[in-house]
Amino acid sequence: MDNLTVEAIELTRLYGGRAAVSDVSFHLAKGQVLGFLGPNGAGKSTTMKMLTGNLAPSAGSVKICGIDMMEHPKEAKALIGYLPEMRPLYKEFTVDEYLTIAARLHKVSSKHIKKAVESAKERCGLTHMSKRLIENLSNGYQQRVGIAQAIIHNPMVVILDEPTVGLDPIQIRDIRALIKEIGQEHSVIVSTHILPEVEMVCDHVQIIDKGKLVFNGGIDVLKRQRVGNKLVLGFKNPPSESALLQIPGIAEVEQVEGMIRVRFTESSMPHEAIVETSVREGWGLYQIAPDQTSLEDVFVQLTYQEAVPVEEKAA
Ligand code: ADP
Repeated sequence: MDNLTVEAIELTRLYGGRAAVSDVSFHLAKGQVLGFLGPNGAGKSTTMKMLTGNLAPSAGSVKICGIDMMEHPKEAKALIGYLPEMRPLYKEFTVDEYLTIAARLHKVSSKHIKKAVESAKERCGLTHMSKRLIENLSNGYQQRVGIAQAIIHNPMVVILDEPTVGLDPIQIRDIRALIKEIGQEHSVIVSTHILPEVEMVCDHVQIIDKGKLVFNGGIDVLKRQRVGNKLVLGFKNPPSESALLQIPGIAEVEQVEGMIRVRFTESSMPHEAIVETSVREGWGLYQIAPDQTSLEDVFVQLTYQEAVPVEEKAA
């Protein structure tokens, strides 16, 4: 594909013989927003550092718009805007001063700097904050400045590490809207451990666990995994468990808060039979709905971790 902006090819990073990231491959195209998810210590930051050329892989390679990061680091890095988890802000500067410095560092030519600063401020809703000292800005506005420095050179790829951590709900909503907007013109990678965030801003999801990719696909594919093999039923005249178990395909019945949850076997679709039997037997069915697994549950299933702390296991 011609419009690939990021290619991670069999990336591995060892620390003292232990793989923090192991054989990770994926690619991203222009206009895509990728959510990079994983529990703490899964290898997200290590992958991000390799993608941005801040850490050399032990094996594998990274290409940005077809340019190899190891062979041509300057050219490849010039195509990336990066907001690390620790924002690289000089708080004693005003927004204008800082963004001017950021533009210079990103090698924006002198005659284009003013325009680049104005444009980044406008996109990040910072125009009215131009003369304010960064240290006097709220957390949310400081984050906007961090994002503004990442897009100041109009890079093809924008990488944001945990961009909404520590923000209040209104700031979070604004930053998510901004990420979506940036995603229309650039490729964006957002690392996060907040699932609803991925649902809201990303079209593609990758889940990493213990250094390995355990899911790589569209957000719709992840959402589909939520629909399990359970139904929640509400009856005016609830039948007995054994009566429900007579319906072909129903494998398990349990009572939950005045409703009945049934699990059906993999290949069966007992919905029609439930409705028909209910009408015939006068059970008064008033609700039949899929019992969706939460995205959190899907995440836990994909990244199953032993809940027992290491010390306890050793004891
Ligand atoms: P995440 O960003 O998903 O929380 P990291 O990429 O920071 O995960 O870490 C992945 C694993 O690599 C962890 O087990 C971490 O302890 C280990 N690790 C990260 N950086 C170093 C380092 N500089 N030296 C040794 N181990 C490291």
